[in-house]
Amino acid sequence: MRNNNLIKAIEKTTKIGGIKISVSLPLLKKIIDKELLLKQQYQLFEKQAREEEYPNIANVFQAFQKGLNIIIRNHKRAIRKEDISEAEHSEKDLKSLVKSTRENIEKSKLDLSAQYIKEYKEAIKKIKNTLTEESYRIEDDVVIYSLQWGQGVKKSHVKVLKLVQKYLKKELKFEPINLDYTNPYVCEVCGHLIFGKPKRLCPVCDNPPEFFDSLENNIKKEPVEQEVS
Ligand SMILES: [Zn+2]
Repeated sequence: MRNNNLIKAIEKTTKIGGIKISVSLPLLKKIIDKELLLKQQYQLFEKQAREEEYPNIANVFQAFQKGLNIIIRNHKRAIRKEDISEAEHSEKDLKSLVKSTRENIEKSKLDLSAQYIKEYKEAIKKIKNTLTEESYRIEDDVVIYSLQWGQGVKKSHVKVLKLVQKYLKKELKFEPINLDYTNPYVCEVCGHLIFGKPKRLCPVCDNPPEFFDSLENNIKKEPVEQEVS
């Protein structure tokens, strides 16, 4: 008990940059937990899509997981808790969430819009509200960028899911038409997903095209170490 009180007292006064840890730590920890759950869910959706013979959709869910690894890494760094343990949700609990690929896509899209993007928006607002000109430190940018990039990537995932639905409606089994959907690339800095060889700056984090990595090259590899700032 005494220790708990002591930790609380330290957290109240300790800061990451100018942001109070008592504000940023619970916010980011909650987001990390939710992202971990989502990553496990996407893993099952990927498996389901492969079983239904939608390899391109399975690749999209695989690329989403890769993006989430990068988002989670950035959040952990932002709160300086890189060693935080990753609570695994039991596959049994998650399996009840897996439906047909069509339903999984719809659920993913709705969850992103109704929960995740909203949560990022609120976290950014809360953190910005705790910052004053006097308290601001350069390290605060790491926390804010991490959240803004996470939010940007989520928004792009919604767009991708809408596109996938459009193709599915036409019963095209998500065949590539104009874009090379068979070749997803993920930005190693922020986790943003694009299709086909990248030619421009990442629209989420503004880093050059070299930071994008194709899915095939990186299936077994952990995200490359990359500074957030
Ligand atoms: Zn990026």
